[in-house]
Amino acid sequence: MPELPEVEVTRRGLAEPLEGATVLAVRLGKPLRWPLGIEPARLVGARLGLASRRGKYIWLPVRREPPAASGNGGLLIHLGMSGSLALAARPPEPGAHDHFDLVTDRGTLRLHDPRRFGAVVWSEGLHAAPAATLLARLGAEPFDAALTPDRFHAALRARRAPIKAVLLAGDVVVGAGNIYACEALFLAGIHPALRADRISRPRAAALLAAVRQTLARALDLGGSTLRDFADVHGAGGAYQAQAAVYGREGEPCPRCAAPVRRRLMGQRSTYFCASCQRR
Ligand code: ZN
Repeated sequence: MPELPEVEVTRRGLAEPLEGATVLAVRLGKPLRWPLGIEPARLVGARLGLASRRGKYIWLPVRREPPAASGNGGLLIHLGMSGSLALAARPPEPGAHDHFDLVTDRGTLRLHDPRRFGAVVWSEGLHAAPAATLLARLGAEPFDAALTPDRFHAALRARRAPIKAVLLAGDVVVGAGNIYACEALFLAGIHPALRADRISRPRAAALLAAVRQTLARALDLGGSTLRDFADVHGAGGAYQAQAAVYGREGEPCPRCAAPVRRRLMGQRSTYFCASCQRR
């Protein structure tokens, strides 16, 4: 599944090339998770703004010239379970899993999504429906300076669920998907089943730093594995090969050599070291 680092790497790849591009055509394939929400013809002739990201959503601003009363807004794009975006000057004919083409004078942005949990949704703004609804429950951005250790700790104090589940829920901080949550908890020495409200202020600070370190490393590696991740469905590739505990059941913990354990939590495989990660 594409996680925040993969989405951010994707955004970086398309933001500058598409800024100022003019939409020439829109092609839809099979239905995605949600309908587009605008007649594709209404997008033709519009200019694209600079893409931004919120959580795992990419926001691609769309402006029609001259500004039409209801013509401005943007496309909110989510890669779902298996989606990937590609920007190509002359792409091949759409295949069976290519469900959205945005043809512009700077190339064609194409969503390839075999499982079709992804979506491209029109919204008149980030603060208008449906974007506002989709983004409403997202927690803080991991690299937002406003997310201080104190605020992170305070948010954890309000939650009684296991810390791993709180990280995965993404409503305190976004971006710590399954692999990154496992790795960050290992780095911080925190047991994944520990209740969030029992985490001390110093341990919360260590965990926030670990989440940031884990995501920053994945972003660095994502830059070099972008071409692969459509094939490996997200956070595989270079990052997974360097993971300390994720996917390493039975292998020695890199810190203490005890065997890495795997446990199902909320139906997700959770990898951890029972001696390094304390409750
Ligand atoms: Zn260990």
